[in-house]
Amino acid sequence: MVSLIPSPDTVMQMLKRTGAFREGHFVYPTGKHSPHYFQMPLAFRYYDTARVLAVALSRKFRVERDISSQLPKIAVISPSSGGIPVAFGVRDALSAEQIYWAEREENGKRMFRQYVNQGEVNPCIIVDDIIRSGHAIEETAALVKELGAKVIGCGAIVRFTSATSEFEGGPIKSLVEFDAHMYDEGDSCGDCKKDAPLEHVRF
Ligand SMILES: [Zn+2]
Repeated sequence: MVSLIPSPDTVMQMLKRTGAFREGHFVYPTGKHSPHYFQMPLAFRYYDTARVLAVALSRKFRVERDISSQLPKIAVISPSSGGIPVAFGVRDALSAEQIYWAEREENGKRMFRQYVNQGEVNPCIIVDDIIRSGHAIEETAALVKELGAKVIGCGAIVRFTSATSEFEGGPIKSLVEFDAHMYDEGDSCGDCKKDAPLEHVRF
């Protein structure tokens, strides 16, 4: 019997087991070095893991009266492709009526993948696989508002503690709060000092 909201340690074990969380000596596209790397879609490739994570996150939303009282007439919105499996899982668990997802256009602007008219979007919760800075959530919330809809919740499987913890006056829901470490190349990076082999990552 799996608990409906697994502990942060249990979630981290699942992420490690599926390869979605790795430890090593990573170089990000920004040039920063880090001993950790998350690639959340690796956890969502497995049905069982995806389901446990999405149901757990959905429970955190369902306890909010402002959300549960509006079900099923809410929308679940993903800011990016990484959040799409999370959004579908949460939508399923809540039986929410709508789902939308955004992506970045070539000009860098975030847009909804669906053509949506003013007034068509239900009150919404924005969910992502991981919140590193919170910018994706903020940009998506701005899009939602342009369409005349209200954001009533926000969350992710993992939130970096350096990212914003509140949004529109409510706490951001997450299963794991992760204290991420980023270093400049060289002496400030413990793995550089040890001459640990580097791995360049794309995201
Ligand atoms: Zn390094």
